Amino acid sequence: MSKVLHSFLTESMAELRSQGLYNEIDTVETANGPIIKVNGQEQEQINFSSNNYLGLATDQRLKAAAVEAIRNWGVGAGAVRTINGTLKVHTQLEERLAAFKGTEAAISYQSGFKCNMAAISAVMDKNDAILSDELNHASIIDGCRLSRADIIRFKHSDMDDLRKQAKAAKGSGRYRKIMVITDGVFSMDGDIAKLPEIAEIAEDYELITYVDDAHGTGVLGNGAGTVKHFGLQDKVDFQIGTLSKAIGVAGGYVAGKKSLVDWLKLRSRPFLFSTAIPPADAAAATKAIELLMESRELYVRLWERANYLKDGLQQLGFQMGNSETPITPCMIGDETMTQTFSRRLFEEGVYAKAIVFPTVPKGAGRVRNMPTAAHTKEMLDQALAVYEKVGKEMAII
Ligand code: PMP
Repeated sequence: MSKVLHSFLTESMAELRSQGLYNEIDTVETANGPIIKVNGQEQEQINFSSNNYLGLATDQRLKAAAVEAIRNWGVGAGAVRTINGTLKVHTQLEERLAAFKGTEAAISYQSGFKCNMAAISAVMDKNDAILSDELNHASIIDGCRLSRADIIRFKHSDMDDLRKQAKAAKGSGRYRKIMVITDGVFSMDGDIAKLPEIAEIAEDYELITYVDDAHGTGVLGNGAGTVKHFGLQDKVDFQIGTLSKAIGVAGGYVAGKKSLVDWLKLRSRPFLFSTAIPPADAAAATKAIELLMESRELYVRLWERANYLKDGLQQLGFQMGNSETPITPCMIGDETMTQTFSRRLFEEGVYAKAIVFPTVPKGAGRVRNMPTAAHTKEMLDQALAVYEKVGKEMAII
């Protein structure tokens, strides 16, 4: 290794360690279900750390669809779609996605992260401005930067601030296009974006509207997401999302008007220069969407389980901030205390990660619980007993 690289790596890592920001990644030894085993330990953990909201990541029906797709299509897509054509499994996925989201068309990408890199920069450029909620996901931030548009952050879900900034941007006459971009559900707090107000402001100032619904899909609007939850399908230009959370697989998508999707096929770089998701993933995701469109069963169960956990934690005296969704943060505050709390939960068999700065602001440490449709009431009772024990022991409740 070159000397320069060696000293860069050792110095930077030492700095991270000294700031308590060196994140050791656990090894999970079992499939990502509601009960997992971690780091070679015998003890089982109740898993509150996945985004597998509906339990579909290990669903038999999705597995069967993936196996069938491997038999029919092989394991790889072969090449980028503009060169090698589109496999029918990808077209089928995109048709189902459009129907699911209530849009004319949809396009799939290799991940939700890439989707934001692809879609924003395909439409926005240096003559434009993007109004972006200050708590938007990292991939939105990176996608905005890639576009070279001016990035104007507005205070989290503060509609007065958004209106003020939209008025100023429009009034400046400097921009050819202005976009407003927000998460549908904010992943660290579980609050829902104020889409009706955002849509109104967008109409007043002729803004392009973009919603990243990674955490809303499968979770709100009978599964179809935050835009459907508010009935705003006609007001949102870009509905983007991931296939890796509630859908249980991997990949991302943009749903919208056919002309938008056609443009993305011509101009979005991850579509033009990166191979599509494997056929097995496309088929499994298609199956997941079909299941969600056929039945509300998993959706209803997710909310039942989430409400059960939230009620239990509330009765014990934990603070859960502004969450309006199954995302269940237990607010602790101090970083070290948050880490200790998470470690003690782990020792008692509950796998819920500490979320601290820089993922959330300093002093806003929390342990985030992600209940899923796959958790049983017994698992939740067991977890609540652990929360009570550790919460009392650490004088958090
Ligand atoms: N957007 C948001 C809001 C997310 O929470 C995530 C996942 N953390 C992504 C995009 C990225 O999705 P993926 O994991 O499919 O890349």
